[in-house]
Amino acid sequence: MNVLVVGSGGREHVLAWKLSASPNVDRVYAAPGNPGMDHVAERLPIDATDGEALAEAAKKHEVKLTVIGPEAALLAGVADVFEREGLNVFGPKKDAARIEGSKSFAKDIMKRYGIPTAGYAVFDNYEEACAHVKDKGAPIVVKADGLAAGKGVTVAMTMQEAYAALADVLSDDAFGSGAKVVLEEYLQGEEISLMALVNGDTVVPLAESQDHKRVYDNDRGPNTGGMGAYSPVSHIGADMVAEAVDSILQPAAAAMVTEGSPFTGVLYAGLMVTEDGPKVIEFNARFGDPEAQVILPRLDNDLAEVLLDVLDGRVPNLSWKPQVLVGVVGAAGGYPGPYQKGLEVPSNLSFDPEDSLMFYAGVDGKAQEMRSSGGRVFLLASYGDTVEKAQKRAYNQMKKLNLEGYHYREDIGNRGIEKD
Ligand code: AMP
Repeated sequence: MNVLVVGSGGREHVLAWKLSASPNVDRVYAAPGNPGMDHVAERLPIDATDGEALAEAAKKHEVKLTVIGPEAALLAGVADVFEREGLNVFGPKKDAARIEGSKSFAKDIMKRYGIPTAGYAVFDNYEEACAHVKDKGAPIVVKADGLAAGKGVTVAMTMQEAYAALADVLSDDAFGSGAKVVLEEYLQGEEISLMALVNGDTVVPLAESQDHKRVYDNDRGPNTGGMGAYSPVSHIGADMVAEAVDSILQPAAAAMVTEGSPFTGVLYAGLMVTEDGPKVIEFNARFGDPEAQVILPRLDNDLAEVLLDVLDGRVPNLSWKPQVLVGVVGAAGGYPGPYQKGLEVPSNLSFDPEDSLMFYAGVDGKAQEMRSSGGRVFLLASYGDTVEKAQKRAYNQMKKLNLEGYHYREDIGNRGIEKD
């Protein structure tokens, strides 16, 4: 069969790579894809949000399964077009993707269905929001409502910081999202990402992982799309993960069915594991990036078969490699602020795939002479029997790349090492 991956980042590279390894897959198409994927996929020059053109291409190329990567494609209704055309698609419809696209919708669902999360209040008025901050004190979390690519969140350690963030969102209408903010209770604990393949109320959990969102070591500096990740996060414990599936992912999927917006695709819960158990920080409606790059290579199953099973209402039995995979993002100088473009991109790498993997994101040009075009340029991931061994291998490989004009975190996986 032929498959199509929608998107062009590192998450889509790992999806295309994993799908291409399926014995039942003849061709993998990527729209629009990137030149780093050329070894596993044929690129189609179609915008990831152009549902009509994507569906037409899927028919033309006899695509049996389409997987949607980016949130923008989901919110643009690409899955809605595919469903209308009777095409198999793994990704939620626009209505269901609101669980990511609207923080107030997600919070409302959690409140009504008893899903553990931080206490919150929603405001569209600057003065009233400031009064709430004054009442609750700091630390407090300020979240812009609407899609802000993971950058619309301020964890304010002081009340002054909270007022400034409110002014940004409410007075300046920074994100044009109808200008609403969610003010949220600050949660303390360890953060993990837990994703599941979902179809209606069928929930198939994937291995857990830990992302590193801040730009600098020791979680300093501004938030980014993610600077690296590792999986599994053994020190969290299988019981805690099982509790999160039961108390969060299952009821969230069931709630979407009851609400008349059944969810099909990857439901991603960003969790804080607190003293009172796991609580939701955010839901996403798709694979995490960079989490997908350290999870999917550890999956032993045939991904195309697994996704088709879930779409047909069957529950596949997943099996995972026991090794840890640590992934480090190579980012262009300046990222997440204005960043350099046109940097040389390491290619022609002779990694042993049992040892290390490379997934490309913000790159363009020809496959053998790629140049950087985005902030997050690539992710290099290495296996190891422990987090420490995987980390050591990843950083050894990173150093061999002799990068110029890049920066990367040097502490991806440290929490796992401390707690091992
Ligand atoms: P989000 O975009 O909602 O994932 O938020 C970005 C980051 O802000 C998260 O990964 C957390 O590190 C932090 N954060 C968000 N909400 C909270 C909260 N209620 N308490 C503590 N930290 C939070």
